[in-house]
Order: sequence, then C-alpha cells, then structure tokens
Amino acid sequence: VKPIVAVVGRPNVGKSTLVNRILGRREAVVQDTPGVTRDRVSYDANWNGREFVLVDTGGWVSDAKGMAAAIAEQAELAISLADAVLFVVDATVGTLDEDEAVVRVLRRSKKPVVLAANKVDDQRHEAMAASMWNLGLGEPYPVSAMHGRGSGDLLDALLDAL
Ligand code: GDP
Ligand code: MG
Repeated sequence: VKPIVAVVGRPNVGKSTLVNRILGRREAVVQDTPGVTRDRVSYDANWNGREFVLVDTGGWVSDAKGMAAAIAEQAELAISLADAVLFVVDATVGTLDEDEAVVRVLRRSKKPVVLAANKVDDQRHEAMAASMWNLGLGEPYPVSAMHGRGSGDLLDALLDAL
C-alpha cells in the first residue's frame, strides 16, 4: 500500500498549486478565490521512484463556528487518514489564526509534518520563510509552488518523513 500524504493549510496558501507542481501536471484545481477545491481529492504521485498518494484539501465553508474552526475540522479529518502531512503556509503573508488552528490539530495528531513556506518566488522572501520556525513544527522549507523553486528539497524531506 502507498503511504498517504495530506496537504493541509488555510485557503489560498497554494496547496493545489503545490500538488500540481509535485504531480508535474495541472490536475488539482487552482483558484484565485479561496474555497473552491473539492473537499478532498487524491492523486498518485512519486518522487525518486517512491510512490505515494497526495490528498489535496480545501472547499471549506465557514459556518457559525467561524472560518478557523471550519478549516481545522476539515484538516483534522484529512490528517487522521494520512501517514504524513504537508502543511502549507504563505510566507508572504505570515501566520494567521486559521494557520494556528491547523497547527493545534497537527500537534494533537502526532503525525510527521513537513512545513512548506510557499510563495517564496525569489531570494527576498527567504527571511519570511525562516520566520515560520516560530510555528514550532521544525524547519520551514521555502518553496515557490508556482515556479518550482525549492520543491526538490521539500520532497526529499517529505519522503524522509514517511
Ligand atoms: P489553495 O487554496 O491553498 O489550494 O491555493 P491555490 O493553489 O488555489 O492558490 C491560490 C493562489 O495563490 C493562486 O492565485 C495561485 O496562483 C497563487 N500561488 C500559489 N502558489 C504560489 C507561489 O508559489 N507564488 C505565488 N506568487 N503565487 C502562488
Ligand atoms: Mg486548493
């Protein structure tokens, strides 16, 4: 059986773009407006000959409990079904309440986590990525899902975590 990697994070951080980058094809739905990805979609992926299943998440609808709670609830379900988690944050924005809500779920799950600090399109944003050490999830891997920058190192770390 192939290990399962859940890609989680708040809307618009670039999860689906990163999934497409890893797959090497445009299959996951990327949207400028958050919340459009279907609930959970699985894709067969491989890196250096190792096969795994990537689960893109999204499609959150805020309810009475609020956006952060809704995101955390969806993430919790995907994380519970996964062997490892690729947690994506937007390094150009920093961390919001919605990110912190997912971090709490990640801590509780005790699943291996690899932290992707996305939208580091160039060197100038490296420092922002480094500030993600504050999340307490270990080394932030600076990546640009859009341009491919850093994705090799991220995938090496992810496969090590499996
Ligand atoms: P998701 O909601 O987390 O799945 O995010 P999407 O993958 O749908 O991307 C949300 C927006 O961020 C889209 O407009 C993407 O083009 C943009 N985006 C994703 N990755 C990057 C990146 O590495 N750099 C930049 N500049 N924009 C990105
Ligand atoms: Mg998406």
